Amino acid sequence: MVETGARLQITPYGAPALRALEAMVAVRKAGDPLRPVTVVMPSSLAALTVRRSLARDGLVATEFLTLPALAPRVAAQRLAAGAARPLSALEARLTVRAVLADTPSRLSELRHHPETLAALVDTFAELRALTASELAALAAGSHRAAEVVDLYRAYRRAVGERADDHDALVAAAAAVRDDDHLRDEIGDVVLHLPRRLGRAELDLLAAFAGRDRLAAIVGDSTIADQLSPLLGAAATPTDAAASAAVEPCIICAPDPAEEARVAVRIVLEHLEAGVPADRIAIVSRVAQPYSLLVHEELDAAGIEHSAPAPVRLAQSIAGRSLLGLLRWPINGHRRDELMRLLRSAPIRDPAGGATRPDRWDRVARNAGVVGGLDQWHRRLDEAARSRLERVKATLSGAAEPTLPLDGEPVEADARAAEIDALRSFVDRLAAATDPTDKRGWRSLSRWAETLLVRHIGNEGAALSWSDADQRARAAVIDLLQQLGALDGLGPEPDVETFIRLLAHELDRPAGRVGRFGRGVFVGRLVDAVGADLDLVIVLGAAEGMFPPRSRDDALLPERERRAAGGALRARGATYEEEERDARAVLAAASNAVLTYPASDPRGQRQLQPSAFVLHQAGERVHVDSFEWWLASGRAAATPSEFDLRELLRARAAGHPVDALPIAATAGIDRGLTAAAARADGAFGEWSGLVGRWPHLADDLQHPRSPTGLQQWATCPFSYFLGRVLGLRELEDPGDAETITPMDRGSLVHAVLEQFFRQRLGRDVDAEWMPADYDELLAVADDIEGVFRARGLTGRPLLWKAEWAALRRHLRKILDADGSDPRLVGVAPAEVELAFGFEGEPTPPVQIDLGEGRVLNFGGRVDRIDRSPDGKRLVVLDYKTGSAYHYAVIDADHQDHDIVARGQLLQLPIYALAARAQFPDAETAEAYYWFIGQRGGIQMKGGPVDDDARDRFQSVVGTIVEGIEDGLFPARPGPDEWRPNIGPTHSNCLYCEFDGLCSSTRGEQWLSVRTRPEIGEYVELAEG
Ligand code: SF4
Repeated sequence: MVETGARLQITPYGAPALRALEAMVAVRKAGDPLRPVTVVMPSSLAALTVRRSLARDGLVATEFLTLPALAPRVAAQRLAAGAARPLSALEARLTVRAVLADTPSRLSELRHHPETLAALVDTFAELRALTASELAALAAGSHRAAEVVDLYRAYRRAVGERADDHDALVAAAAAVRDDDHLRDEIGDVVLHLPRRLGRAELDLLAAFAGRDRLAAIVGDSTIADQLSPLLGAAATPTDAAASAAVEPCIICAPDPAEEARVAVRIVLEHLEAGVPADRIAIVSRVAQPYSLLVHEELDAAGIEHSAPAPVRLAQSIAGRSLLGLLRWPINGHRRDELMRLLRSAPIRDPAGGATRPDRWDRVARNAGVVGGLDQWHRRLDEAARSRLERVKATLSGAAEPTLPLDGEPVEADARAAEIDALRSFVDRLAAATDPTDKRGWRSLSRWAETLLVRHIGNEGAALSWSDADQRARAAVIDLLQQLGALDGLGPEPDVETFIRLLAHELDRPAGRVGRFGRGVFVGRLVDAVGADLDLVIVLGAAEGMFPPRSRDDALLPERERRAAGGALRARGATYEEEERDARAVLAAASNAVLTYPASDPRGQRQLQPSAFVLHQAGERVHVDSFEWWLASGRAAATPSEFDLRELLRARAAGHPVDALPIAATAGIDRGLTAAAARADGAFGEWSGLVGRWPHLADDLQHPRSPTGLQQWATCPFSYFLGRVLGLRELEDPGDAETITPMDRGSLVHAVLEQFFRQRLGRDVDAEWMPADYDELLAVADDIEGVFRARGLTGRPLLWKAEWAALRRHLRKILDADGSDPRLVGVAPAEVELAFGFEGEPTPPVQIDLGEGRVLNFGGRVDRIDRSPDGKRLVVLDYKTGSAYHYAVIDADHQDHDIVARGQLLQLPIYALAARAQFPDAETAEAYYWFIGQRGGIQMKGGPVDDDARDRFQSVVGTIVEGIEDGLFPARPGPDEWRPNIGPTHSNCLYCEFDGLCSSTRGEQWLSVRTRPEIGEYVELAEG
């Protein structure tokens, strides 16, 4: 039996409260169905669901509203008569900014921080209900509190007559007290399951109560205590059975993503059982990450729903385009930012033509562009110039001689046109995004709107976007127009302040997806308080999230709030209030599910159920894996889950899953086959044996560089990825503080080339004289000037110091040249000898592989020295890197191998090229000359005699046969452990495919290395 006489009733949440409401509305109608009654609900969802429930019995003249919606309606006439313009949230924040600029305060420094403005607006809203004496008491609490109160008073003066939410409540209370012709429209008010009530709200309710037009149903004695002064003592329910609460099903899932999947599967089961979608809600105490996860799962399952938009306005197409365009010049015209913007939004080139972020990014990276307009110009111009030179020199086929599938095909020179197109686009965009000297809301907003529309198109162009993005576009334009109307409100912003405040305003959810009231509701836990549902699922009930950890208010901490004598409440909800909300929500439906995650993947930590969960009675279910649900025969929610369920069933029945038709239609058959083959240790197409292909056969016509063969000798799979499939990591030029190692090497090479070219055939006994050193530095200075002019030397001050050190080092190189015993008795006879290139007179080095096959090598020898009688040659290859991995090629090394197991092939090739150039020579030695600034100047190498040539020829034969036979197993090399990297393998340390390769590469190599097919390779690499 429901108590109907008392104006204030306490009932349990859920069905008992709904029955009490129905009875109370009936009492208020007093037998006249047309008598108006307004029911004030705690949320829009509660208003909608309860109205639908009660309307089933033919309820008329009864309106369901929230309190924030009721107040302006009651006060509408008074607010209009007072001509008080409403104060928007945006105006409130900018008024605070103006006050901070005008009022000397420690907080004034923070006026450019949008978060500070928002926090002050919230605090000022709390202070609105305080009397003058309460404000004075608060100000007396501390210096900081006094500052906040002073700012508040200044803010109120600045706001003047404009009306805020508090004004609406006050005006509404006055209207009710004066009985402003509202009785016919509003009628009696029934307050249903209110949450915490503020002072102004209680005033409005008191006005209704004073006219005997208020009744209330509450679910908790704390709220009853707030209302009993207005409505008299609360009556309690007399029907004990009615208060029996539904016990929720409590589910522990591995992580939030699995919670969302489980929730959607449960929803699907209820939908199949006939529960309408609009009587189901999935809610959580914290929005992140649940709103997005649940929305995505519902989408995948094809279930109609209404949820917070998965992105914020700043992340929508219009939002990110606008911020990207505005920030590009502010952040220094960075290449990575521009390319990110072009890839993430449909940015148009207003001059016509499409933008090509992928190609342009490649062009800009290759040109070494990092940022800065000047750098864009210089480096793109330089790239265009060198491209032109390359085309003229017709070197395209010979610059990096390769195997047939090696490297890029010869292309018509479209790249020069790409460079041109990119340069023009960058210039146009830089001009369009330059705000020049614009200031002020109106000027900056108009400019920003024009910029946006010109680059993303008008409304018509947005028709192909998703609904959410179209709505977001309208909201972004609306925001710009609101900002444009704010001139006169505080100091006029410069462009940086404008962008900062704009970014803050865009950092809010881009509305909702789906239509509110249609389909499953997804939202916050408090949205479901007082609702009437068939199924409610509460996610995220883990310790620390339910409720979230509270932090003290930085502006008015708890201690100072208490000092104000109770006029100000604690910030946020108390634990009791949180618990009351959760109980109310679980009682809102005949079926309730409460879930919590066992771990937080983002924080990489385990989670515990919250205390609220521990105190709940109900069935407990532990979901221990992604498969668990499906393996136990429950419903699949999404198409991919249907597929997975079929696979699980087949596996359980002992059928080979890769043979199922579903494996082919889902596109996982090849993946399953590959995984199975690798797990079995088979040596086949999935583990590096692709067999003989015509493409792999060496046509032996094109000269090749030795680097590809060296790569195969080190790890055949890296050769396959890089040379056969043509994969390569894109260079990402950093913001060069100083010269790159590659450019430093080129500079030293160029200096030595020019210096020694001028001294070809010099007297072998002549010592280097001071004039030679001076000449060396003069040559160096000339070449350094060219590098500096091309912008390759980094920041001027740093480079100045580095160049001084490098000049000193060049002198040391000349010292070493004059003192190394291996260079005694010889003098430079050739520098930069190119062989095997198209257009070069020197033919390729040819290696006879037998059976009529000949391999041609091309390359460039840095320097060849010769004895006066021409019988002895010394070949030098300059290296500016480390000598660490070259020890084994040195003639003095105990395991000397001139080709380092095939991983260093250059010296024999260069020695053979030198012998071809100087056929009278009887001996040839070849050395890598390490002339870098680190590790000392040293030579590694030795004589290239008949034994060395035989070794070289045999190794090259093994490599070529391996490639032709299609042998490409991954050989990661010995295990290594490196600080900051951890366990790795020696070959993978600097391999560009490290992130691409299987994590089981080490085990895979061990399982195939004994196969006879690769016996010769294993002997070469490890034997
Ligand atoms: S990451 Fe290691 S195993 Fe993989 S291709 Fe590179 S070197 Fe070979």
